[in-house]
Order: sequence, then C-alpha cells, then structure tokens
Amino acid sequence: NRPIVAVVGRPNVGKSTLFNKLAGKRISIVEDTPGVTRDRIFAEVEWLNKYFTLIDTGGIEKDNGDVILSQMRNQAMLAVDMAHIIIFVVDGKAGLTAADKEVAQILRKTNKPVLLAVNKIDSINQMDNIYDFYELGLGNPYAISSANSMGLGDLLDEVVENF
Ligand code: GDP
Ligand code: MG
Repeated sequence: NRPIVAVVGRPNVGKSTLFNKLAGKRISIVEDTPGVTRDRIFAEVEWLNKYFTLIDTGGIEKDNGDVILSQMRNQAMLAVDMAHIIIFVVDGKAGLTAADKEVAQILRKTNKPVLLAVNKIDSINQMDNIYDFYELGLGNPYAISSANSMGLGDLLDEVVENF
C-alpha cells in the first residue's frame, strides 16, 4: 500500500548509488526473480515518518550495450506504469545527452510527479552544471551528490510532499 518511487535514468548516472544511499540499512525486501540482476532493486524507505517503496529500475534488466536505448525506454515506461513518483537521474558531470532526452520525452507524458535529480554535483563549484537540464522540460532540477550524500534531504522532502 505504500507509494512506489522509481529511480530511472540511463546507465552510469548513479541510480544504484542513490538507491543504496536512500535505502541505507532500512532494506527489508530483496527481490530474487529470474532475469533480474542480483543487485537488490526494492527497498523500504522512511523519511519524516512517511514510508515508501523505492525501486532501482536499472537493476531490472541486465546491461547489454546493444539494447541500452530500448531498455531505457522500457524502464521508463515500466516506471511510469507502476510508480506513483519518479526520480529521473541524470549525470551533472557528463552533461545532457541524447539518451536523457529520450527518457525525458516519455516522462513528460505522464501526469505523475517526476523529480529531476542532477547527480554528481559533488561540490558547490559544480552547481552551474545543472542549468543545461532545464531544457528537458521537467521543471527545476535538484542538484545532488549521491556519493557525498548532498542534496538528498531536499529531494526526499519533495518526494514525500507528493504523497
Ligand atoms: P547506475 O548505472 O545509474 O546505477 O550508476 P551507479 O550507481 O552504478 O554509478 C555509476 C558510477 O558513478 C560509479 O562509478 C559511481 O561511483 C559513480 N557515482 C555515483 N554517484 C556519484 C556522485 O554523486 N558523484 C560522483 N563523482 N560519482 C558518482
Ligand atoms: Mg545501477
């Protein structure tokens, strides 16, 4: 019954790093389904006494360079279907890519809340890297560093605001 929050985005942007940071030690579900990578993909997360199920969509299918684009489309569509709220992660070091635009195109069509998280903003000096991502048409980006646990509180505040 808990709201489902899906983490989507192209490979290597830091989805699993974010997932693991948010999951912390509070993981209570480990999915072990054939075809699913062995990374855990579901976690129960609590923030401000509100609980939600977090899904790392990058763990749903194995990496395969040939089909990455279609795989991402599938992940995005799956997330749109099953999630109540979507966290779309992009890479603030790499900048905006065509693949980000592909995923954004799908996400813009949903009425569900989509939170755009520009990851790898590891210091305040890198804040300027977020501006290119306004072009995705998904509102104000959240600058985060999953590695350094920066900006995650504001992102979680917005997640639970949408319940
Ligand atoms: P995924 O493929 O989207 O799940 O990405 P991963 O979580 O596996 O991360 C991909 C790479 O980005 C790894 O080398 C991470 O250590 C790195 N990474 C993730 N988050 C950050 C971050 O906030 N800052 C930096 N500098 N690197 C990060
Ligand atoms: Mg991953």
